[in-house]
Amino acid sequence: MKKNVYLALLLAITCVLYLPSAAGAYVTFNDHVLNGGVGSWGVADRYYYVFEGAQGYTSAIPNAVTDWNNTGTRIGVTTPVSFLKTTSQSASVMFIHAANYFGSGSGIIAETDQWTSGGALVDQYSSNWHHGRIRLNTPVFESLSTYNREGSVAHEMGHVMGLGENNSKPGSVMCQLGSGRTVNNAQKDDANGINHLYPNG
Ligand SMILES: [Zn+2]
Repeated sequence: MKKNVYLALLLAITCVLYLPSAAGAYVTFNDHVLNGGVGSWGVADRYYYVFEGAQGYTSAIPNAVTDWNNTGTRIGVTTPVSFLKTTSQSASVMFIHAANYFGSGSGIIAETDQWTSGGALVDQYSSNWHHGRIRLNTPVFESLSTYNREGSVAHEMGHVMGLGENNSKPGSVMCQLGSGRTVNNAQKDDANGINHLYPNG
């Protein structure tokens, strides 16, 4: 009898230790990914393209990219992420737009969707994609602090690369701002998610 109680207690402690880290460390779209990977850390760089409406965000966008590219030195978790800016749309796999898409009352900061090379919208839960399109909703996006603008671009970049909302973790860049995100760039959970999705870059 005593042995059983001890075992039950041990199991309970084990579960407590395991659940918080296993549940919600990162979220994916059923492990679907960006075709061709995220750059192989400089070996096979990927490219992003900034459309005219978003070209004024000269710190939020490059800072978000730089922080994703440098998780190794910044937080000690190296990932294959290596994005560079291009002026060639056809070379890009991450398109960044900005306009008043949804109005200020919508509360929508940005929206990201995934596409085939032929220009068809992808259900990211059932197949991989060729490129992602980020649309920053200017009236809400511009109401944010500099810190949260950068965090929001970094969050949308995460969607392009295959990370889903991580709303139970305010310390993840994939937590929505409305759910209490406290960071403005990728953290360990986010980087671990990328390494899970792209074990070969
Ligand atoms: Zn999101």
